Amino acid sequence: MSLLFNQLFTRLVTRTLTSTMSRSAKRTKFADTCNSLRNFDVTTTGAAFKVKRNMATDSEQREEVDMSKFRAPDVIAKKRDGQVLTTGEIQYFVKGVVEKEFQDSQIGAMLMAIFLNGMNRDETTTLTRAMRDSGSTLSFPAEWAGLVVDKHSTGGVGDKISLPLAPALAACGLKVPMISGRGLGHTGGTLDKLESIPNFSVDCTTGEMGEILEKVGCCIVGQTADIVPADKIMYGIRDVTGTVESLPLITASIVSKKASEGLSALVLDVKYGQAAFMKTLDKARDLAHSMVSASEGLGMKTVALLTRMDNPIGLTIGNGLEVWESLLCLQGEGPQDLKELVCQLGGHLLARVGTAATAAEGAERIAEKLRNGEALQRFCDMMVAQGVKQETAEALCCPGTDVFTILPRAQHVEDLCCQSSGFIQSIDALELARVSAELGAGRSKAGEAVNHAVGLQLLKTVGAKVTKGDVWVKVHHQGDCVSPNHITRLQNSLLVGGESVEVGSRVTEVIS
Ligand code: URA
Repeated sequence: MSLLFNQLFTRLVTRTLTSTMSRSAKRTKFADTCNSLRNFDVTTTGAAFKVKRNMATDSEQREEVDMSKFRAPDVIAKKRDGQVLTTGEIQYFVKGVVEKEFQDSQIGAMLMAIFLNGMNRDETTTLTRAMRDSGSTLSFPAEWAGLVVDKHSTGGVGDKISLPLAPALAACGLKVPMISGRGLGHTGGTLDKLESIPNFSVDCTTGEMGEILEKVGCCIVGQTADIVPADKIMYGIRDVTGTVESLPLITASIVSKKASEGLSALVLDVKYGQAAFMKTLDKARDLAHSMVSASEGLGMKTVALLTRMDNPIGLTIGNGLEVWESLLCLQGEGPQDLKELVCQLGGHLLARVGTAATAAEGAERIAEKLRNGEALQRFCDMMVAQGVKQETAEALCCPGTDVFTILPRAQHVEDLCCQSSGFIQSIDALELARVSAELGAGRSKAGEAVNHAVGLQLLKTVGAKVTKGDVWVKVHHQGDCVSPNHITRLQNSLLVGGESVEVGSRVTEVIS
């Protein structure tokens, strides 16, 4: 790596590596370790949970915790009996998870106790903070204070919002160190989408991230093993103990990972509906309140948008197809619902950071960056910084290019037609996502390869007036995976009726 990289590695982005820290430290002292470091330096102090942290706005009163007095069975029993855990007990649990002092059975029992009895806001914030502190965190130069931002979505179908949003925010002068994930089950992953671009690399060191943020303003990368290691262990056990759907555990899992990025501000896209993780508005609202509270508690200015997730977002589902649609959005074109979500999420974030007076003003600024090509230029620069050849990136960003001379193209495209006339009432996003995943766009097990070419391309959306025989969806496939069952399921996911349909905003509530 270049000299510049090495300098940036030490100057811009420093890691706190608890994974290499002493395992024998039974006594953890927080009081002397939480100096407010306005210059964002981070120092590794050499003892687990003894970290000088960069979170100058994290106002937690750190206290001295003597962990030698705790016993795992007692702490588990306390939560089993519905009592409120102390800061020390929660830190003891998370430390025990990471340092393997808790057996898997004890972790499972504690997670079930939390699942059944919940946690109050303070406990949830403490759990989130302890999880963040279980691994490395990013920190940035003082001049970036207040400008480092990110977005998190609870997962949708056709959700490619990060691809246009990160560069649009960078074009507004913000820094976006987006650590993203891969798809599993019916939801697609931002990293899988980006990897349809030849040579796009999502594996960046923190030093490389710093360099890209300095030059471009945004990067979208994968998570490294040393970021929130507690979450990896806890999530694996939640998955097999029926404890995934717990508000405090979901909150701590999501927010701790975002907090590890050293963010000043965060916007949350909390989706609800048939194709979302949260099926009802009420549940989504509860999750949003819980995440906003924990995130603010860790010093991040946070706003959450509750957004409807019944019909697919935009017109494409599938990795390469979604990159194509993102490029259109970055050229100020593409479907209105996608553009609206990008502008609303970005607008609220700009307002929360304080660089726009209102969310509406912020949304207009994002829209302008999409119209005037500045966001597209940032995306082009980000692609090059993350390994894509300059001429490839420029060709992809040139309006009028047939992007499928560069992005993977499926061998077959099959048209499906409306079987009756009327207005499209709904399109079952969950079923479309499942079929798309079965065509190869998604994975059923972590680590499986995905096919970047396959997916679904909608020609009609909800509210459209259609005539029997109109093509409503194009199935991009490789021939061997598509079955009559897939075709039937796709046809059944389109509902056409006589009533005209009013299509409203996907954003139904804002919580901050
Ligand atoms: N996504 C996460 O990262 N964690 C959860 O617990 C749920 C969704």
